[in-house]
Amino acid sequence: MYQHITMENQALNLLPGKVVCVGRNYAEHAKELGNEIPDTPILFMKPATSLVSFDGGFSIPGNQGSVHHEVEIALLVCKQTKNIGPDQAWDSISHVALALDLTLRDVQNKLKEKSHPWEIAKAFDGACPISNWVPVLDIADINNITLQLEKNGELKQNGNSRQMITSIPELIAYISNIFTLMPGDVILTGTPAGVGPLEHGDELTAVLDNKFAFDTRVL
Ligand code: ZN
Repeated sequence: MYQHITMENQALNLLPGKVVCVGRNYAEHAKELGNEIPDTPILFMKPATSLVSFDGGFSIPGNQGSVHHEVEIALLVCKQTKNIGPDQAWDSISHVALALDLTLRDVQNKLKEKSHPWEIAKAFDGACPISNWVPVLDIADINNITLQLEKNGELKQNGNSRQMITSIPELIAYISNIFTLMPGDVILTGTPAGVGPLEHGDELTAVLDNKFAFDTRVL
């Protein structure tokens, strides 16, 4: 059985900061949305106001078309980080979690057609539900982290960090050369294939590293 952990995020004593996200970091997901595989990471951000806990469930926007789940490995930055290389990257990360990069897919498609930024589709209040944090030291192998999302008991997304186009250390290094990372910032590392719409009442379980299961629901 999975270990259901109950550690409080607040116990980490960090104010939530910005959430730096990467798009199309798994080839199979890029394909399912008909997107090209990028040569450099596609970065975007969500503000701190997008972060909400899995605990007790989360709300989704109404009347704006489909809201897709994108389950992603989330990393918690524990120290100020700028211009580092991949070999130093894990030193800046204290905890790992699973997050949902909630996306107003119909809105995003319209924005893409016009070549406009994605923020209103991805950075709204509550657009980043997140599980409790697991210490990096409790991850069995940081080069081989699995992530899964079940919706109403059915496996929808199933991936492994080894499938990333830009690996976690390369991604942290790349980001740190553009944005200074601060303690409390969160990095979302991209979603594997299987994204799809959420409805009110959906029951979700996200499983990290085949060990930590996090339950939440759409209110
Ligand atoms: Zn995403």
